Amino acid sequence: MDMGIRGKRALVCASSKGLGRGCAEALAAEGANLVMNARGAEALEATAQAIRDAHGVEVVTVAADITTEDGRARVLEVAGDVDILVTNAGGPPPGVWSDWGRDDFIRALDANMLAPIALMTALLPGMMARGWGRVVNITSQSVKAPIPQLGLSNAARTGLTGYVAGTARQVAHAGVTINNLLPGIHATDRAQALDGPVAEREGITIEEARARREATIPARRYGTAEEFGAACVFLCSQQAGFIVGQNLLLDGGGTNFTI
Ligand code: NAP
Repeated sequence: MDMGIRGKRALVCASSKGLGRGCAEALAAEGANLVMNARGAEALEATAQAIRDAHGVEVVTVAADITTEDGRARVLEVAGDVDILVTNAGGPPPGVWSDWGRDDFIRALDANMLAPIALMTALLPGMMARGWGRVVNITSQSVKAPIPQLGLSNAARTGLTGYVAGTARQVAHAGVTINNLLPGIHATDRAQALDGPVAEREGITIEEARARREATIPARRYGTAEEFGAACVFLCSQQAGFIVGQNLLLDGGGTNFTI
């Protein structure tokens, strides 16, 4: 199926690895030109070159921390007018409710709520003026069902979800859709980083920790960045123009609820 986004310009934040990279690759495969971002320049440029080589699209990179005002300003300056925005950043560290003070919450809110909101605030007016736009925010399954040790993530991402629910309905009339993708456990560095402490605590290997987590997922495996990217492309497609303010869970059935 042709997704109808050939030649569109997409800003994909935090995309040198993992789920962001999956989205960038999938958009490029559909012919979208990319502005890619991550903090580490070397991995970012290597991923960008791999995408240029594989898909022949234009890829511009900006090495910057998307969670800071300065980093965002540099990304936005290079990005200019974009048709598609995929927001993403690293997730907050795990812990226990009693560990976290105001500064921890401010950091989590900056990274996982206020950064995507600032990007939307900057880019929505241009999309609306041009009569077409797609925004996809990478959030987490934790907005549907809290992950106790990720309280900072639960809090920040739920705040973003509330913002999107209202804002998506204010911009849809101009041909702009905003939706969220909610990853369950995917095989990325982030998943490995969360398996590590479990392995240490339980005195088992990382492979055993992974196998135990996989056993809790109805699909009996972690998701892949490619599957995640395919869902992102669909939400960015012409065909998805009537999907507004939704939260699409990609979790292999791991979140146990009816609707
Ligand atoms: P990942 O494999 O660790 O990749 C993170 C990517 O984001 C890297 O390219 C990283 O590059 C970049 N990045 C991180 N912080 C950044 C920042 N401040 N500014 C710009 N770029 C930044 O992580 P992932 O698994 O793809 O996860 C992506 C998001 O989904 C995270 O918020 C994570 O919490 C959430 N999530 C993931 C899972 C999962 O199972 N994987 C499940 C639920 C939610 P640099 O380090 O060079 O900046």
